[in-house]
Amino acid sequence: MRYAVISDIHSNLTALDAVLEAARPFDVLLCLGDVVGYGPDPNECVARLHSYPLTCIAGNHDLAAIGQLDLSRFNPDERQANYWTRDELSRESRDFLSDLPNTIKLGSFLLAHGSPVNPVWEYLDSLYLAKDNFMRFDFQTAFVGHTHIALAIEWDSKQKEASFLQANASALSLAKDRLILNPGSVGQPRDDDPRASYAIMDTEKMSWEFRRTPYNIERTQKRMRNCGLPKRLIERLQYGW
Ligand code: ZN
Repeated sequence: MRYAVISDIHSNLTALDAVLEAARPFDVLLCLGDVVGYGPDPNECVARLHSYPLTCIAGNHDLAAIGQLDLSRFNPDERQANYWTRDELSRESRDFLSDLPNTIKLGSFLLAHGSPVNPVWEYLDSLYLAKDNFMRFDFQTAFVGHTHIALAIEWDSKQKEASFLQANASALSLAKDRLILNPGSVGQPRDDDPRASYAIMDTEKMSWEFRRTPYNIERTQKRMRNCGLPKRLIERLQYGW
């Protein structure tokens, strides 16, 4: 099976469409949450995901947009964008987001937006947190998002040690002891590379490939401006910050 693995779309339809085009062919779309929030096209992004064979979990922005998370941990820009998203969501989009689970177990795979330990809030960006997650769960590979930065961490069960693997374009073997993988963000990358970030996973070849694809950033920015979304959220897209 060939999966397109995506996360943190954040209502950026232009980026999502560029990724879906570049990722072809794939059998299933695996989405690690934060479909909405920040960007201008929440309903369109939900509808687009819906048109594919899809496995999807909820992110903190998705939960906030349907009123299941209080916004006190969001900064003012995030809060403003989230209120805008709430008002914008159609009945169908709200139903779709309401049905998303916080985690999904697919055989030896575990999907969680933040981390297996704390699917909604934890930013799994360090070896310390990786170790904590490896020790407390029995997944072979966990897929996470939330940080908006591509990442691969390997676990050595004998030594009980976690180490970073290079998160670049060359294919990575899934036939490792244990792994935590983050495909980066489709709609708002934060690693100083503004191109949309995603991954292709092939479970027959047991391979994982980090991918980047350019998209029309100005188009998304223009749409955000028309929606009256915060300036800082509009500008950051062109820097990948
Ligand atoms: Zn996010």
